[in-house]
Amino acid sequence: MKKAVLVIDMLNDFVNGKLKCERAQLIIPNIEKLSSVARKSGVNVIYLNDAHYESDFENKRWGAHALKETRGSEVIEELRPKKGDYVVEKRTYSGFFETGLDTLLKSLNVKTIYLAGLHTNVCARHTAADAFFRGYEIVAVKDGLQAFSEKDHKDGLEYLKFAYNAQIKKTDEIIKKWEVGKNARLP
Ligand code: ZN
Repeated sequence: MKKAVLVIDMLNDFVNGKLKCERAQLIIPNIEKLSSVARKSGVNVIYLNDAHYESDFENKRWGAHALKETRGSEVIEELRPKKGDYVVEKRTYSGFFETGLDTLLKSLNVKTIYLAGLHTNVCARHTAADAFFRGYEIVAVKDGLQAFSEKDHKDGLEYLKFAYNAQIKKTDEIIKKWEVGKNARLP
């Protein structure tokens, strides 16, 4: 059984733009480290990216953001997808809702997902819910997730553990266990 890192909404609008989250800066180096070791260890890297139409219902809550085919919906420069990564576009919080994510994970034989990105208590939480309903094992990357406040992040992690049986682990703890070189995808 395989693993996948899910990098959620590390997009210009969420990190630097319309829905800027200052705390996103804290996790960029950790996600970079996690995904680069993943690529060398045969762990899939899958980006879950908002790509909204103006008419999307979610914009009633947040205002128009991460519009499809605009700079706002592009992954930030530091974390650009690399060859062999996957990109799944989504139109609301959950990466599973009316997207091909479940089919993709099944085709890759993925059983365990590692949640990273934004926000611990919104998109990560709803993606975790749908993952749990479908029988995936969930690991929340403690220092690879963030939210608008420390409290939102902490409460978000607690909820992932409480409701979805998520393991809470730090980047270094995770990558230590991934055998570098085994089943490696060439860079
Ligand atoms: Zn959105």
